[in-house]
Amino acid sequence: MKYRIATQCQHEGWKPKNGKARQLPIYQSTTFKYDSSDAMGRLFDLEEAGYFYTRLQNPTNDAVAARICAMEGGFAAMLTSSGQAANFYAVFNICEAGDHFIASSAIYGGTYNLFGVTMKKMGIECTFVDQTLPEDKLATYFKPNTKAVFGETITNPTVSVLDIEKFAKLAHAHGVPLIVDNTFATPINCRPFAWGADIVTHSTTKYMDGHAVSVGGCIVDSGNFDWLGHAERYPGLTTPDDSYHGIVYAEKFGKGAYITKATAQLMRDFGAIQSPQNAFYLNLGLETLSLRMHKHCENALQVAKYLKQHSKVAWVHYPQLQDDQYHTLAEKYLPNGSCGVLAFGVHGGRDTAIRFMDKLELASIVTHVADSKTCLLHPASHTHRQLTDEQLSAAGIAPDLIRLSVGIEDVQDIIDDLSQALASI
Ligand SMILES: *Cc1c(COP(=O)(O)O)cnc(C)c1O
Repeated sequence: MKYRIATQCQHEGWKPKNGKARQLPIYQSTTFKYDSSDAMGRLFDLEEAGYFYTRLQNPTNDAVAARICAMEGGFAAMLTSSGQAANFYAVFNICEAGDHFIASSAIYGGTYNLFGVTMKKMGIECTFVDQTLPEDKLATYFKPNTKAVFGETITNPTVSVLDIEKFAKLAHAHGVPLIVDNTFATPINCRPFAWGADIVTHSTTKYMDGHAVSVGGCIVDSGNFDWLGHAERYPGLTTPDDSYHGIVYAEKFGKGAYITKATAQLMRDFGAIQSPQNAFYLNLGLETLSLRMHKHCENALQVAKYLKQHSKVAWVHYPQLQDDQYHTLAEKYLPNGSCGVLAFGVHGGRDTAIRFMDKLELASIVTHVADSKTCLLHPASHTHRQLTDEQLSAAGIAPDLIRLSVGIEDVQDIIDDLSQALASI
């Protein structure tokens, strides 16, 4: 039976048999025992599925990955140690030195650095594009060596909504997959596969964990992209892997090829595995994700409306506001709500923003977002403090932008707190 998403949050991934633990056990073990040398040999050859070393796979992690996979409507999934590791693996699994890919310029700063600076040193070139450009303009950025397109369902920190269908069509017209980072929307509010995305990534550190206890990531593959149909573009999946006795992933594993390769090669070689203990925390977070997301959205919309009418607030970005630039896209892709994050500016710019933030009592200043507790950050004073106003604007971040992550407290207390801080500036 196929369950609806709130039920999937509770029951997918771990389905205990008679007499087994009701809650997901933590397999806090680096290794797994076999009765014969031959049995373990078959695992190493990928001839049989099974556990042998937690750097590659662990039953606790696999159960949690399976839960997220079901929630996204995917074919296979894997956990990683962080969202950064998830996005790196997702791209590096199909791009090598000499290759090129395209990403929205509005993506999270950490991913922007990874793609634009660190992966460049590995010989992989990324072109950042304005995601609001029309299809024919975007098409001009593709090259013969382009291997993927990347965007975020809702961007961090500018809360812009990606036109997933437009980007999926564009990617497929050029024979490459679309990778979507679905961290802010979560599968509760958007399932990118339904709109044509091929691979989804998450920083599970955010809403999925939800309680600020564990850093983690996840990659989910829809299994829909036809690697063999574009064999010359993806030799890593369609030609023999010497490190596995000549296995051709796309032939041997079909729809499971992408995740099998990312596990067998990238996780084996780079080792950014999530600890089973953290996977357990993530699993607990997932169990209440649907409840929390509804509350985050409800609270954030009320806060956005409150800020919008306040005389000391210069501007507010929240996709659910009627007159927001991304409202039409939000109605299509996020009909039940977007997330708890909104961006706004106060009159007076950078200095006033700092004075306002220092007056807050309930909302805390933290380098975190998408958490059950209300928190906020001023990129110009924190994550991007080395940049001048001009450099910030070039990065698409207004110097007065405050990223407010609305939590699940009583919304009136959040508004009261904002109100007293605004009154003081
Ligand atoms: C935080 C974040 C990341 C990075 O995730 P970590 O878990 O911090 O490594 C990637 N993408 C988005 C959209 C994020 O918000």
